[in-house]
Amino acid sequence: QQPSHNILHEGNHDMADTLDTSHFWMPFTANRQYKSRPRLLAAASGMYYTTDDGRRILDGTAGLWCVNAGHCHPKITAAIQQQAATMDFAPTFQMGHPKVFEAATALARMAPEGLNRVFFCNDGSESVDTALKIALAYHRVRGDGLRTRLIGRERGYHGVGFGGIAVGGIAGNRKHFGPAVPGVDHLRHPLDIARNAYSRGLPKHGAELADEFEQRLLALHDPATVAALIVEPIQGSTGVILPPKGYLQKLRAICDKYGILLIFDEVITGFGRLGAAFAADHFGVVPDMITCAKGLTNAAVPMGAVIVRQDIHDAFMQAAPEDTIEFFHGYTYTGHPLASAACVATLEVYREEGLFDRAAAMAPYFEEAAHSLKGLPYVKDIRNLGLVCGIELEGVPGKPTARAYDVFQKCFWDKGVLIRTTGDIIALSPPLIIDKLQVDQLFAAIAEVLKTQQAIPQTDTVA
Ligand code: PMP
Repeated sequence: QQPSHNILHEGNHDMADTLDTSHFWMPFTANRQYKSRPRLLAAASGMYYTTDDGRRILDGTAGLWCVNAGHCHPKITAAIQQQAATMDFAPTFQMGHPKVFEAATALARMAPEGLNRVFFCNDGSESVDTALKIALAYHRVRGDGLRTRLIGRERGYHGVGFGGIAVGGIAGNRKHFGPAVPGVDHLRHPLDIARNAYSRGLPKHGAELADEFEQRLLALHDPATVAALIVEPIQGSTGVILPPKGYLQKLRAICDKYGILLIFDEVITGFGRLGAAFAADHFGVVPDMITCAKGLTNAAVPMGAVIVRQDIHDAFMQAAPEDTIEFFHGYTYTGHPLASAACVATLEVYREEGLFDRAAAMAPYFEEAAHSLKGLPYVKDIRNLGLVCGIELEGVPGKPTARAYDVFQKCFWDKGVLIRTTGDIIALSPPLIIDKLQVDQLFAAIAEVLKTQQAIPQTDTVA
């Protein structure tokens, strides 16, 4: 069946006849809609993509929340090229290479105080599974092996590894894959539009939802069986759900009370998105571990990391005899030279160009522009913090992705602006280098599309 608002075959595509689409299985995609050809991005620079037929597209999403310093930053590109020409690969099992140590040091220096040890992996999903394994093993090496339960939140997104889908709160990511990791529980997410609609920055209401964590610990689980709680400080992928004022502080206090590790999944919020290095800095709540990826290398080479409290690492060192491997975990590409070089260069760029401060300085303007959409057709809520924004639209009954997806397609192709949608929510997370004119262009494009949105018949087929 063909999609009804069929925009997939328009455009003057030079590669239309030559592109073989019969082998690449596109991730998180309704692949059958793209039998003919998907739209293609062919080049990128700074705030813009260029399509294969030469159209310039303003990047309102930093790729996938990841190109924080803007595309193809010359310093990062040069560092990768130089490393590729010098040494392509070196193992890091029982050995290493200088760049990986340099990258770990630079990251630890950027991290909140006390989070000093870095375990490298290749993406956000691996960083989550690595952190969960560190949490479980940490309790065990300290003789506390009863702590095997993990707790996440509804609508949490923690990647697609088995650990990540288990603690994640998205049914669709779990339902085809069996029980994944047993013994996982989920707290409610704090989105409450009825009480907090159009809140600028953190919502006022809902901190009491954190109390549910303690209630569940006592009513459903023995707290002494819980290893870790993992939360995104802002739930990004499922629609920009902000923590109510005081909520994260309460989670921290409950974790402390019961000896449970607190993991912040900062795959999206890390590296300046909120105007500070990490959300932990912005909120003044320091977790025991931070998972990160994306902005770690400005997305130029895949890399993820877990940043671990020093004494958690030290517990492993103290538990085992000196000639024993303390933590049975690692990847062939842990600390890959190209990723390490990209990481060192990226963290330098953030510092040298003051990009986190720049994001903080742009945030009020971004907020004003975002909230100027209030009152437009279909707009139900607007949520923002730093350079992240969610615009929730009234959905089409029975077709939860219909309207926002339609806005996405029109912005992308007709207006030359790349936005992102998740369900009925438009999510924006531009590179931190965005200027005021580009902020205006981004929101003007969305406003124009919303004003001309047709009611979508409920019978439509939508990706
Ligand atoms: N955690 C969070 C909070 C994320 O937003 C994402 C990806 N958007 C991931 C984990 C997974 O990262 P990746 O896609 O690099 O595996």
